[in-house]
Amino acid sequence: MYPDNHRSSRDLYQRALKSLPGGNTRTTVFMKPFPIYAARGAGCRVWDLDGNEYIDCINNFTSLIHGHAHPVLIEAATKQLARGSAFGMPTESEVDLAELLAARLPSVEQARFANSGTEAVMMALKAARAYTGRRKIAKCEGAYHGSYDYAEVSLDPTPSAWGGNAPVSVAYAKGTPENVLADVVTIPFNDVEAAVSLIREHGPELAGVLVDPMPNRAGLVPADKAYLEALRQVTREVGALLIFDEVISFRVGYHGAQGVWGIEPDLTTLGKIIGGGFPVGAIAGRKQFMSVFDPSSGKPALPHGGTFSANPVTMRAGLAAMELLDKAAFKRLDAIGQAVRDGIDAAFRRTGVPGRTVGLGSLLKIHFTDRNIRDYRSAYLNEAEAKRQTVFNSGLLNRGIFMANYGLMALSLPMSDADVDQIVSAAAASLEEVAALD
Ligand code: PMP
Repeated sequence: MYPDNHRSSRDLYQRALKSLPGGNTRTTVFMKPFPIYAARGAGCRVWDLDGNEYIDCINNFTSLIHGHAHPVLIEAATKQLARGSAFGMPTESEVDLAELLAARLPSVEQARFANSGTEAVMMALKAARAYTGRRKIAKCEGAYHGSYDYAEVSLDPTPSAWGGNAPVSVAYAKGTPENVLADVVTIPFNDVEAAVSLIREHGPELAGVLVDPMPNRAGLVPADKAYLEALRQVTREVGALLIFDEVISFRVGYHGAQGVWGIEPDLTTLGKIIGGGFPVGAIAGRKQFMSVFDPSSGKPALPHGGTFSANPVTMRAGLAAMELLDKAAFKRLDAIGQAVRDGIDAAFRRTGVPGRTVGLGSLLKIHFTDRNIRDYRSAYLNEAEAKRQTVFNSGLLNRGIFMANYGLMALSLPMSDADVDQIVSAAAASLEEVAALD
């Protein structure tokens, strides 16, 4: 088992250490004692360099909703590759994908493409500033929105740094300028009173409020409807834009998270699934707000380029992926998500290990505590809980299930009922190991 039967990965990691810092080019995929290198994927399975097979429950951090190497997506991408992969000219493909997004997302009339979710969030925050002429941004404590300085403030504060009831803005990366911290208002997730009062306090300087309706790193608890409604109302009151980060949460429904909650943000950021497996990001919203990007009457309020933005390979694969993702597909994703959540919850009860799953649709997170998980702070693991998580994770890996080390699972459409059973049995057996700890 890992690490013993992963010699090729271990050797490649030794090689990587020379040419990549820490052998790594993506912090999120690093693992100790060395990462397991992927060789290929098909459907819901991946194989590593040593030929070990896994059911992939991370799907490139939620982006591969059709699993690996789906034949329709291969065809869409290769057909476009044969015609050219990128041009210094726009193509019809970007119009097609923008139309699809506008047809599906209730608050969207127009979209603009980028190459990552990070860029999408950066451009949405800049759009809010350009539109309002204000400089501050509010975001939720513990929520991940990519690597833009402002968006990553207070991503992982420790209890000694996070402050009292009103969270303080804490730098995520060393070197974050003080001015960035001063311009970010960190609000607690799912706490209407505290969030509204902070937004009112900074209201006249606030350009936008960025919120993920089901923030993965802050616990993956779905937001209370009342919380999102309160953000909708108070942003209108203070004249700031409400921005939904649906880079992940677009996965929860045909009309996105905004369709599930029935709330229309001013701007939406997208990524991951809309690229059909290729790099992508998008900023979308009503024409009124998207007009900051409009170059048709001279230099726009917010110029935005990107050599590979809206490249037709991404656009064509993304369009094919989204077309495959019809209402029946969401029904299936909801069903398998529920089956995995129910199966793991039953195993928690059987084994007596404290904990449960949270999530919606094809997304779930496993928490090793009986606390009521509401936000980043209640999801924060103590030492005993972290130990349980580590033992559980290696149990799953050794049973051929690959998921994020912080407990996230993102399921995919190629998963059969038998695959779902395999995931649940592996989780149950791993929980037995956790139970044996105490
Ligand atoms: N927003 C959210 C909610 C995300 O989960 C992520 C990435 N996991 C991003 C933004 C950034 O996207 P990318 O990794 O494509 O830059």
